[in-house]
Amino acid sequence: MTTIADRISIAQSQIAQAAQNCSRNSEEVTLLAVSKTKPISDIIAAYEAGQRCFGENYVQEGEEKVIALKQDYADIEWHFIGPLQSNKSRIVAEHFDWMHTVSREKIAKRLNDQRPATKAPLQICIQVNISNEDTKSGLQASEINALANAISQLPNLTLRGLMAIPTATDDINVQKAEFTKLQALYHQLQNDYPTVDTLSMGMSNDLTVAIAHGSTMVRIGTAIFGSRK
Ligand SMILES: *Cc1c(COP(=O)(O)O)cnc(C)c1O
Repeated sequence: MTTIADRISIAQSQIAQAAQNCSRNSEEVTLLAVSKTKPISDIIAAYEAGQRCFGENYVQEGEEKVIALKQDYADIEWHFIGPLQSNKSRIVAEHFDWMHTVSREKIAKRLNDQRPATKAPLQICIQVNISNEDTKSGLQASEINALANAISQLPNLTLRGLMAIPTATDDINVQKAEFTKLQALYHQLQNDYPTVDTLSMGMSNDLTVAIAHGSTMVRIGTAIFGSRK
């Protein structure tokens, strides 16, 4: 039976291989372990295998985990990657280090106002709806500039980059087309904002293509922790 430690090491070698294929340094790509719905013991197992960045999707569940682990595992970096209703923004502002799914100025302002003064600024990615599906969250490419400008003026937030959940497909041409668009948007944003250094895209089934198109953070859940109920 493979362990969580084995699967992290497999994911790390896939990242290293993908980086090597496109002549990038694998240290440019962070593995975000998506631990949603999984027990704290799984997070500890991953931590003991060297994993430090964890992604959670549900506010309440995430809050519980952060509180439970903050004493003994203080160097975990917590990333919120799920949809967020504005009435729950305080929980993210108070407990997380990163927030990947900002797509409205109203949420950005609330996160800024609710971020405790004792904490470093909340690290922000703007979620882009790259597949243009109505059902997906995220904003349209044409709306990125206005939101980036608003975020850059909020002192308790730091704009770090873009996040996207592309169309779920095994069609490599569709994957490539969407990642190409994202990479161009990311480069444009980097030109305008010096704090931007993060392109959060790529999951288990499209990690290689994502890394070839400049991803700096891949989000992997099932391949590390097993399937969810
Ligand atoms: C759940 C989730 C992932 C990880 O998905 P897996 O299929 O379990 O690897 C990545 N990104 C986001 C935004 C998610 O919600």
